[in-house]
Amino acid sequence: MARKIIIAGNWKMHKTNAEARQLANQIKMKATDIRQAGIILCPPFTALAAVYETIKDTGIGLGAQNMFWEKEGAFTGEISAGMIKSAGAGYVIIGHSERRQYFGETDETVNKKIKAALENGLNPIVCVGESLQQREENITREVVTRQIKGALDGLKPADMQHIIVAYEPIWAIGTGKTATPQQAEEVHGQIRTVLTEMFGQEVAEQVIIQYGGSVKPENARELLSQPNIDGALVGGASLKADSFAGIFQTAEQLSVSKKT
Ligand code: PEP
Repeated sequence: MARKIIIAGNWKMHKTNAEARQLANQIKMKATDIRQAGIILCPPFTALAAVYETIKDTGIGLGAQNMFWEKEGAFTGEISAGMIKSAGAGYVIIGHSERRQYFGETDETVNKKIKAALENGLNPIVCVGESLQQREENITREVVTRQIKGALDGLKPADMQHIIVAYEPIWAIGTGKTATPQQAEEVHGQIRTVLTEMFGQEVAEQVIIQYGGSVKPENARELLSQPNIDGALVGGASLKADSFAGIFQTAEQLSVSKKT
């Protein structure tokens, strides 16, 4: 069975509730003819409920951008998986490089968050990716392998149907520099190999691996046409309905014709 192409928009720390509602509404209008590709919107926590109200009657998914692994308690400022679920979300981005870089997240905390998300019925979008220095040192494969093994440690093959992996080279995030389709495909292939070692081929073949890093309508087709690129995690270009729609409409066209 072909893997679905899924386009997720990471709005980061952008959009008040009114702005989020407006953007979600514009996206909803542009997504009425999307049947095969998947769309997920990841607004800030504060706008989850507002966006949920806007998209609840559509096939568009909703995700948070982070979570804490504990269920509840004295953890001021944190948000649990259950709270995210109760706001209407079905997904959560975990281990984004900005969280690793600015908020001290490690493979170990990413792993705890993934397990808590799964226990609460959320589908994690697990981010991995190397820095520019690591790429120049030729250790991309080692870095990404370590991140995947660390993040998914202890998961069962059956858990993997709920996991989306996002390969996001840090040097391509928000910089306008995109990995070439060949560079991205090479790492996606390596990730699938690691997933095969961990969970077996049948499971690994079904895991959606998104690419993230300056994806826009102009480069989406070439990236999404690669055999192991099954979608995109989009930052900047997800903040405007036109550019985000350009990407998911391309995904829809490719879905009709695509692959394994
Ligand atoms: C991201 O933050 O996940 C991302 C890929 O950002 P951008 O598309 O802006 O590079």
